[in-house]
Amino acid sequence: MKELELMYEGKAKKVFKTDDEDLLIVAYKDDATAFNGLKKGTIVGKGIVNNRMSNYLCKILEEKGIPTHYVEELDERRTVVKKVEIVPLEVIIRNKAAGSFSKRLGVAEGTELKCSTLEFSYKNDDLGDPLINSYMALALGLATKSHYVTSKDKIEHAAETINEELKEIFKNIGIELIDFKLEFGRYHGEIILADEISPDTCRYWDIETHDHLDKDRFRRDLGDAEGAYQEVYRRLGLDK
Ligand code: ADP
Ligand code: UDP
Repeated sequence: MKELELMYEGKAKKVFKTDDEDLLIVAYKDDATAFNGLKKGTIVGKGIVNNRMSNYLCKILEEKGIPTHYVEELDERRTVVKKVEIVPLEVIIRNKAAGSFSKRLGVAEGTELKCSTLEFSYKNDDLGDPLINSYMALALGLATKSHYVTSKDKIEHAAETINEELKEIFKNIGIELIDFKLEFGRYHGEIILADEISPDTCRYWDIETHDHLDKDRFRRDLGDAEGAYQEVYRRLGLDK
């Protein structure tokens, strides 16, 4: 596998073409951003944690029947993935109220939800990733109806299974999965899980202390973001 030119540099990762047109190499950076890029910083070691944690979780999800973009970890920061056409939706699943859900609906962070929720944001940095529903996505022509309905069904079903699997994995290491964001893409006509699952894209709270072990430490200036990322990494046994 040969790494070719840089195709895209995002806020947290660089994406390179390869000599196989079906595959890309993603390289995870330590750059941290929040509030749609307004706040910038560095979380030392984050790229390694996110790369290895994401790969670890993708492998488990594959075993549970969820197709993902993961192909091969090249080194601690770089991974070969299937090149997908990203569905321009951020799929957000919540088990407890936090963040924008708490603000929008006026419920205290940490409030139990009677069932998990699923919402879509339109992946568009210029607009700040606004909340979107099926009617809006169809009205804007982001997808044709039949394409959208089948994709939505697949995405919602996969998201539910992923939530159940992840909740269990994190519960076993003393962490409550509060909420998280997924991205999906199309690969040869199939909808598969793409992007990353990491402390950048999930809220992890320690079950006992309710300490935040995720990017909120950076967003909210809670201190020691590095330590929090390392703690989750260590509890998953990935430091060995
Ligand atoms: P952002 O674009 O939000 O700044 P990143 O820095 O994480 O985010 O950049 C990675 C980009 O690569 C994202 O836009 C993401 O949607 C995209 N991506 C993730 N996985 C894949 C994949 N398997 N194929 C194609 N694009 C992908
Ligand atoms: N999230 C993400 N990328 C985004 C927006 C949200 O990974 O662009 C994740 C975030 O880390 C959290 C979940 O999605 O785990 C829900 O985020 P929320 O809508 O509460 O937004 P926030 O409070 O981060 O603005």
